[in-house]
Amino acid sequence: MKSMRNILDEAQAHGRAVGHFNVSDLVLLRGVVAAARELNVPVIVGASDGERRFMGIRQIAALVKSLREESDSPIFLNSDHTHSLADAMEAARCGFDSVVFDRSALPFEENIRETAEAVKALKAINSSILVEGEIGDIGTGSEVRDTAPDLSRGLSSPEDARRFVAATHVDVLAPAVGNMHGMLKSMVEGSARKHLDIERISQIKQSAQVPLTLHGGSGTDDNDFRKAIAAGINIVHINTELRVAWRRGLEDSLRQQPQEVVPYKLLEPALDDIKQVVLSRLRLFQGK
Ligand SMILES: [Zn+2]
Repeated sequence: MKSMRNILDEAQAHGRAVGHFNVSDLVLLRGVVAAARELNVPVIVGASDGERRFMGIRQIAALVKSLREESDSPIFLNSDHTHSLADAMEAARCGFDSVVFDRSALPFEENIRETAEAVKALKAINSSILVEGEIGDIGTGSEVRDTAPDLSRGLSSPEDARRFVAATHVDVLAPAVGNMHGMLKSMVEGSARKHLDIERISQIKQSAQVPLTLHGGSGTDDNDFRKAIAAGINIVHINTELRVAWRRGLEDSLRQQPQEVVPYKLLEPALDDIKQVVLSRLRLFQGK
């Protein structure tokens, strides 16, 4: 299997992005992997703090490893939004391919200092692990909310991006470019979409010169995605849309089979709903 770095280089060369999808259970994981295999494209499976805790960090690593051994399409595992060095090091020891070391809530200089330290510590455990650092404010929590937080003052500047990458040696950078974690109710209903600061992405790409990740991709306008990828985004995170599909799929299933108690008969339709969301996003990100 190609390395994650190779895959990101190829994505950059071909003007594509790799989809990153968070999972909390086997239904989500199988939905994500089924979609990637059907399209024969690489995919990144993400597990953030709560998701790693719920699935078990060793268990999610073992599941992804076994899925990877079954097929040629590359599947990578990312420790998403890892807030402590101890947790990041545990993920590295468990065989994760990458870690998002997220100290973006700290003042900028402290974020630089802690991220630089994390890059050294993680590469000492696994020299080929990729470390992503995060700057700016894109809000927290992949949830559905009524109103948008004001993130306008937390947008990343090209100069901050350059300084952060030079000082920390991160492999991948996650900037704040108009993106936001979670979705508004209006986005779930389909009456509103997120829009991105494409010019800012281009400038950050030029000054940072590393692969860029777009967090909080759920609910983003398709055309903004295309432009953002052309401007230098190489990884796109989708979480809330999958969580919504999981819940709706399960609710439909329970409604349609009111007497059913067999879990896999109830969960199979939800798995297919999740797969459809992943297929649609992967096609878009891969330009298919
Ligand atoms: Zn994120």
